[in-house]
Amino acid sequence: MRIAIYPGSFDPVTLGHLDIIKRASAVFDKLIVAVMHNQNKVPMFDTEERMELLRRTINNLPNVEITSFGGLLADYARQQDACAIIKGLRAVSDFEYEFQMALANRKLNPELDTVFLMTSAEYMYLSSSVVKDIAVHGGNVAGFVPAEILDDIMLRTRKDG
Ligand code: ADP
Repeated sequence: MRIAIYPGSFDPVTLGHLDIIKRASAVFDKLIVAVMHNQNKVPMFDTEERMELLRRTINNLPNVEITSFGGLLADYARQQDACAIIKGLRAVSDFEYEFQMALANRKLNPELDTVFLMTSAEYMYLSSSVVKDIAVHGGNVAGFVPAEILDDIMLRTRKDG
C-alpha cells in the first residue's frame, strides 16, 4: 500500500488544491490530506472547519482521508506509514522554498520522498490568500473554490466584514 501525504493550510481549499488532490489520489493507493494547525497567522477558518470544508469537497474520492497535524511533517509521515509528500508547484517562486524543504525532510526521514505535481495552467495564479483577498473585498470567488464551500466563504467574510 503506497500512502502519500498532501500537507497544507487549506484556508480554504481552492480548485487548485482539489486538482492536486485528484491527480495525487490517482497515483497513490491512499492520499492523506493533512491540515496544518501550527500556523502563525490567524486563519479565516479554524482547523476543524478547514477539515470539514475539505471533506465536503472530496466526498467522491474513496482513497482520500482528511486529517490534521502539528509539529514535524517528517515525523507525522513516519507515523502514518507514508512514503511520499505531495507538493503542488505553481511558479518558479514556489520552487526554491520547496526544494529546501524537500531536502530537509529527506534528511529527517530518508525513506520519505517529495513528489511535485505541476499546477494545471488554469489554476496557476490561485492560492487561498488570493481567494480571501477577493472575498473580503466583496468579489465573487465562484470560479476559484469548489461550489460546495462557496456559501461558507461568503458567510464568513460577511460576518467578519
Ligand atoms: P496556498 O494555497 O495559500 O498557497 P497551502 O498551504 O494551502 O497554501 O497550499 C498547500 C499546497 O498546495 C502547497 O504545496 C501549494 O504549493 C499547493 N497549491 C496551492 N495552490 C495551488 C495551485 N493553484 N496549483 C497547484 N498547487 C497548489
